[in-house]
Amino acid sequence: MSQHYDLAIIGGGCAGLSLARDLIKRSADQTSLPRTVIIEPRTGYANDRTWCFWSQNIGSERALVKRQWRQWSFSSQGQQHLHEPGEGWSYHCIPAVNFYQHALNLIGPNDRVELRKGDQVKTIEPLDGSFRLQTLNGDIIADKVIDTRPPTTDDHARSTLLQAFIGVEIRSEQALVKSDQVGLMEDMASDEFGFKFNYILPMSSNHILIESTRFCRDRAAIRQLDADLEQALKRYSRGADYQIVRREQGVIPMGLEPAADTLPPNWIRAGSGGGAIRAATGYAFRRIQNWSRQCADQLLEQDRIIAQPAEPALLGLMDQFFLRVIRHHPELAPDFFMALAEKVEPAALVRFLTDQPRLKDMLAVVLALPAWPFIKQLNPARLRNPKLPADHVHRG
Ligand SMILES: Cc1cc2nc3c(=O)[nH]c(=O)nc-3n(C[C@H](O)[C@H](O)[C@H](O)COP(=O)(O)OP(=O)(O)OC[C@H]3O[C@@H](n4cnc5c(N)ncnc54)[C@H](O)[C@@H]3O)c2cc1C
Repeated sequence: MSQHYDLAIIGGGCAGLSLARDLIKRSADQTSLPRTVIIEPRTGYANDRTWCFWSQNIGSERALVKRQWRQWSFSSQGQQHLHEPGEGWSYHCIPAVNFYQHALNLIGPNDRVELRKGDQVKTIEPLDGSFRLQTLNGDIIADKVIDTRPPTTDDHARSTLLQAFIGVEIRSEQALVKSDQVGLMEDMASDEFGFKFNYILPMSSNHILIESTRFCRDRAAIRQLDADLEQALKRYSRGADYQIVRREQGVIPMGLEPAADTLPPNWIRAGSGGGAIRAATGYAFRRIQNWSRQCADQLLEQDRIIAQPAEPALLGLMDQFFLRVIRHHPELAPDFFMALAEKVEPAALVRFLTDQPRLKDMLAVVLALPAWPFIKQLNPARLRNPKLPADHVHRG
């Protein structure tokens, strides 16, 4: 007979583990916890990514943070802008292993939350007011489903741009960079494959994560990343010997249109496949944490699940507009980001990047950018179909 749960969480990654952790932390006692199963294909957790985000008030995640910085830089063609907004703003970094371990320590001993590693959901179908999940290891029945399976490469076609990156963490005997400053968008440039830059995260002056990044549309651009990284390694190691400690890579869809299908009540998508990725930046970690706390409270107090909150309309529109211009004019992207870094006050820019801009911050962002490429985007046919080329002529 199939096992019956109140809640099935598909995927024990960032969103799935965050929700399980928050349910455990926020429930008054064991009996108020929904009987939960998390289905996760991996059999063990590795340090597979580094989550970074800005915050003025780090709160309960402080214990997971490895480092924080008050300054970050943008550079292109040898010119650099350094931002230090003050007002308590810092850029924080959480190694995935800290996050996974914390969640697993809470989930492991809990009788009402079960993590099934090495399993995988194949199909989900509604069944008498519940759901039947067919998994590699047999069927499961659940009253509610939170589906955190990440976007597939097929889903990437619904995005405006892809943010692709390959990075390595290196250690050297010699100091390589200044340790008190993150290179947020360094060496910005463009080539026939699109817009590119390096992301430099110094754990210390001789221990850094170097990530070569592209905002692009196709696999050909992604294939350039190995060569980009080789160049970046030469540049930042400055001839010193180094040892590669760890690698990470990813392809994040930016401006992902929601899937066309409508899900039945009590089954929602969450995490990167459920609207958590900020279109203009590709950041999702903090948004997932906020959703997870709200969803856990709703489940515990109201016995209902909630999706990622919708993007404020104006911010969503600005992001989409910005991405579309970069999609069609990647050669302008270095100037755009340098203009934002030069002309927008650092605290206003960081509020914009962290989803909490004031109206005057949004205005500052708009005024910093050159108008003409954006006006060209207003071509009515392109607004209906952003995939049309920039020089498409509107008839009728
Ligand atoms: C290398 C990397 C670095 C990133 N760095 C940052 C950052 O610095 N800041 C930031 O804000 N964002 C960052 N992101 C973006 C985002 O925060 C992460 O992708 C985050 O992990 C998304 O969480 P998620 O739960 O949606 O997806 P995941 O963490 O990928 O979890 C999805 C889970 O679903 C599981 N799964 C897949 N198929 C099935 C199936 N059929 N059945 C059951 N389970 C399944 C997967 O195994 C996985 O564990 C980064 C992304 C990557 C890839």
